[in-house]
Amino acid sequence: MECPVCGTDLPKQVPKYSPEIAEFPCTRCGPFEIEELAFKLLTAKKNLYQGPILSHAIRKMHRRNKRPLLTYALVERLLEEEHLPTAFEQSDLLLEWIGEQSHVVGAKVDIPGGYALETTIGAADNRGLRHHQGKPRA
Ligand SMILES: [Zn+2]
Repeated sequence: MECPVCGTDLPKQVPKYSPEIAEFPCTRCGPFEIEELAFKLLTAKKNLYQGPILSHAIRKMHRRNKRPLLTYALVERLLEEEHLPTAFEQSDLLLEWIGEQSHVVGAKVDIPGGYALETTIGAADNRGLRHHQGKPRA
């Protein structure tokens, strides 16, 4: 099974809390719950930036809720209103992340493997950690 947001491979068993809500323990997006209708919306509306935009939005939601619930209305709103951060915004998010990781100013911070950091700063993919110009705004 793969994450309906970003396509990352997941363990075969996805916990279900009810017939309508499932939890996805995604290593890229972080853990989240999703309603069945929102799941169907994601699988029906695939586009190039959908996964990175929603992964980044989920990472931002983790600041308030360690396991956010994606409802149909929330997914619909995120797909309409959210965008990938610009390169300047990503550099601010990277500095903020480094600050959160360091316990002492000037201390060495290790960058973890995997995709969590690229999603946290809003890069489209791991190449975006090196350089990303962001999604053009309409
Ligand atoms: Zn994911």
